[in-house]
Amino acid sequence: MTGRADVEDVEDTEDTEDTGEVPVVDTGVYPAVRLPVIELVDVTKVYRTGTLEVEALRGISTVIEESEYVAVMGPSGSGKSTLMHILGCLDVPTAGTYRLAGEDVSSMTEVELAEIRNRRIGFVFQQFNLLPSLNASRNVELPLAYAGIDRAERHERAQIALARVGLEDRVDHRPGELSGGQQQRVAVARALVTDPDLILADEPTGNLDSVSANEMLALFGDLHASGRTVVLITHESDVAAAAQRTVRIRDGNIQVDPVPLGRSR
Ligand code: ADP
Ligand code: MG
Repeated sequence: MTGRADVEDVEDTEDTEDTGEVPVVDTGVYPAVRLPVIELVDVTKVYRTGTLEVEALRGISTVIEESEYVAVMGPSGSGKSTLMHILGCLDVPTAGTYRLAGEDVSSMTEVELAEIRNRRIGFVFQQFNLLPSLNASRNVELPLAYAGIDRAERHERAQIALARVGLEDRVDHRPGELSGGQQQRVAVARALVTDPDLILADEPTGNLDSVSANEMLALFGDLHASGRTVVLITHESDVAAAAQRTVRIRDGNIQVDPVPLGRSR
C-alpha cells in the first residue's frame, strides 16, 4: 500500500489552500483511491445529547462490491440515514471499522475525506437540497466550483449532466420553477457531474409522486448499468426491489444481508 505515504508527501510539498471552510483540493496529484469496495466491520454509532444516548447503529458488518446496486431498507428510525452518513464520510463511526477501497477511513486526513466526498461520491437526498436562488445549471456546477474547476468547464459539464437526466430544456429554471421530479433530477445531475464511482441516495423517491419515482429509479438503473456502485436507502420494499440485493436493517442491526452476487462468504 503506497497510498498513505504518497498523500503525506503531497501534503508536505503542496500548499493546500485554506479556504476557511471545507478544504478545497486540487486532486490531479492525488494517488487514485479506487472506490468502492465498501467494508463495514462491527460499525456502531452512538449519538450523545446531554445525558441521553441513542445507539443508532449497533454493530453493522457488510460488504458492498464495486458496481453493485444495493438497497438498504428498514423502517423509520432504524439507522438508515446514519449509515448513509458514515458510508459517505459525512460522519464517523463511534466504534468499528469502515474500509473504503481497502483503506481505513479513520486513517484518512480531512483533506482526503473532503476529496472523496466532493469527487468520488455523489449524494442524493430526499429533500433535493438545491439552492433556491440558483438555476439548475448553477446548482449542478456547485461541486465543480468547490473543486476549483473554471467557469467555462463547469458550465459545459453541467449541461452534459443535465442532458443525462433529461433536463436540457430546463437548465435556466430555478428549483421553484421545476416539479419535484425535475428538482430531484437536477440533484442527480449535481451528484453525477463529478463522475463519482459511488452514488448514495437517501430516500430519493420519498417526496415524489409514483410516476416521478419510477423515472428516478430508471435513472439509478442507468447509472448502475454504466458501471457505478449505487446504494439506495429506502423504507419501501417496491423501491428496494429496483436494486440487485437488499440489506435490511432494524434498530441499528442488520437483519438480512444476502451474499453479494459473485461472491462467496
Ligand atoms: P432512519 O434514517 O432509518 O429513519 P436515522 O439514522 O435517521 O434513521 O436515526 C436512527 C436513530 O438515531 C433514531 O432513533 C434517531 O432519532 C437517532 N438520531 C439520528 N440522528 C441523530 C442525531 N444527530 N442526534 C441524536 N440522535 C439521532
Ligand atoms: Mg432517514
